[in-house]
This record gives sequence, structure tokens and C-alpha cells, in this order.
Amino acid sequence: MEFIDLKSQYLSIKEAINQRIQTVLHHGQYINGPEVSELEEALCNYTKAKHCITCGNGTDALQLALMAYDIGPGDAVFTTSFSFFATAEAIGLLGATPVFVDIDPNTYNICPNSLSNTLLNYNGNATPRAIITVDLFGLPADYPAIKPIADEFGLKMIEDAAQGMGGKIGDDYAGTFGDISTTSFFPAKPLGCYGDGGALFTPHEDIADKLRSLKNHGKGTHKYEHIRIGMNSRLDTIQAAVLIEKLKILESEIEKRNNIAALYSQRLSDVAQIPTVPENYRSSWAQFTLGVHNRDKLQEELAKARIPSQVYYPAPLHRQTAMQSNQILVRSERASQTAISLPITAYTSPDTIELITSSIIKRHHIQG
Ligand SMILES: *Cc1c(COP(=O)(O)O)cnc(C)c1O
Repeated sequence: MEFIDLKSQYLSIKEAINQRIQTVLHHGQYINGPEVSELEEALCNYTKAKHCITCGNGTDALQLALMAYDIGPGDAVFTTSFSFFATAEAIGLLGATPVFVDIDPNTYNICPNSLSNTLLNYNGNATPRAIITVDLFGLPADYPAIKPIADEFGLKMIEDAAQGMGGKIGDDYAGTFGDISTTSFFPAKPLGCYGDGGALFTPHEDIADKLRSLKNHGKGTHKYEHIRIGMNSRLDTIQAAVLIEKLKILESEIEKRNNIAALYSQRLSDVAQIPTVPENYRSSWAQFTLGVHNRDKLQEELAKARIPSQVYYPAPLHRQTAMQSNQILVRSERASQTAISLPITAYTSPDTIELITSSIIKRHHIQG
């Protein structure tokens, strides 16, 4: 058993993927080929976002989003402490100051009350400019509560949907909740390619134009005119071709992941804290994450039974050496000690879920 089984997916759509890659190999436009804009359009159709701009990876996407609002030294960006490092790294890389906010322990996402308290009590020197929310493990953050806070404090909303593609609140898709939303196509994400890739979404036309310039060496209207300092951040044509085919099956894959998540939850609700999906929300189940006591012991025992698991994340961001933060955020700290993620893909069989859950239940009954 593998933690993330990418081969089963490939085998199920092998012909289509191979065909698409062959087409690119033959037309030869390996950079900025027609598949790149075809994908951007398909992503707009899927998410109902107004503008989509592909880029090199999800970390670049976050950096570009902050650059689009000229965020840098002297600026503060408020974000969750429970995420992959890149979320905070992009803030630090631009010389801005990350201010960490605690999570809702039920969803692992940024807690709106903590956010508004952190903003009200903030007395740092840097000027508050933006909030970066994360759709952690595939579940959209609490945007109905967070957006009014962003408006009240005059902050830009940046949605880090690296794990969130396919998540929804009502009819609204991840990728549409921010002034800018970012995503990653790293292979293990809900929508992944066969290398690195990323994208940005925005409803604002001026920001879309600026992002297209920023990702392309600060390009002006002519090829060799540069009007700002930008980056070189492109999605390869071959990766775009792969993603066009994968996007076609994303919706059905997410339905299957939801069935598996329901099965896991049903089996494990007596022995662990199962993940909460609020009413009207859909998770894309980038991860299925349990809260358990003796997490490390459980992981050890699962490994002995050859059941792979992962710990996302063993330390909250404010505890990372690189962040030099002295904040104390108890719920993020607790989650980093109790969370454990189990294998979940659209191709995981009910038998496999039975094997994994019975192993966890058996251990629970032995240890009490
Ligand atoms: C994966 C991830 C990123 C970074 O994406 P890359 O494509 O690996 O650069 C950023 N934020 C979150 C929450 C992620 O999970």
C-alpha cells in the first residue's frame, strides 16, 4: 500500500494522457504552448473564477499574489499557524512580517474569532495588509465569517487553495474565495501534474494583468519591455496537457474520495476525532486527518502492519526556527501533536479502508 497512489490514476486515463503528451512533443511549443491557455480556460470553467494565471508552483503563486499587492518590508500578513511552510515562507521571503493566528480544532482551519482578536490586539510596527487563509486538507476555510473581517480591517484576502481544488461552500468553488486565490499542481495535491505547477485566480482584471506581467519578468506590452521587477514562473506545456486530462476526472474523483471519507468516519468515530465538514461545505479530501492520543505510537504500529500514514504537520509554523516567532497558539500546537493522516485516493478500495480501520480499532481496544 502506498500513502498516495498516483499510479492507479495514471493507469485509468493512460491513453488520454499519453495522447496529450504526444501532441505537445509533436507541436514543439514546450513553453507557453496552446495547452497552457486551454488549461487556464478549463480551470475558469471548472471553478467559475474570472481569471486564471498559471505559474511554476504553489509557492511562487503565493509570492506572486503578495507581489501583486506590493506587500513587502513594513507590512504584516495574518495567516494560520497550521499549514505547510510555504504559506508563511512567501511572506518572509518578501520581507513582510507573518502574524500567526490559531485554528479551529474541529476543522484545522484558521479560526475567525482568533483572527479578529489577533487583529484587534495587534500592536506591531508593521502595517496589516493581507490575510492568507489555507483550505487545509481540502476543506475551504470559514469564508462567510472571514471575509467580513477582511473588509472591516481593510485587508486583502489571499486564499491558499494548494490543497483545496474541488472544495466547495454551497455552489462556490475553492479558487474563488480570495481577492487572489492560489493553488499548486504538485503531484500529491487533489489536482496534480507530473512535476511542478501552480496557478492563481482572481476576480479583478487589473490584478490579473499585473500577475501576468509579474510571472513573466515584469513584462510590459512589448516582449523586451520590462515595467517592474518580476519572476520567471511558468507552467510547462506538457504539465498543462496532463492537467487538462486530469481536470476532466476531478469531479468524479472527489465524489469517490468523499465516499471513502464517509466510510472512514463511520468506522472510526468511536475511537478518534474524525474530521468535521461544516454543513453546506464539500472537502476535496486532500488528506483524511484524525486526531488521536498517542499519535506517534499509532503511527509506529500502523507502520508495523505496513499501513502508511503521514503527520501533517509535526510543528506549527510559529514554532519553526525560520519564523523567529514567540507567539503561543495552543490549538495549533495541540493539532501538531495529535493529527495523523491516512491514505485516501479515489482508487482506494473499501477493503483497504476495512483493513486500515480495523487495525486502528483493534489497537484502541487493546490500549483503551
Ligand atoms: C503544497 C503547498 C504549497 C506549495 O506548493 P508547491 O507547488 O509545492 O510550491 C503551499 N501551500 C500549501 C498549503 C501547500 O499544501
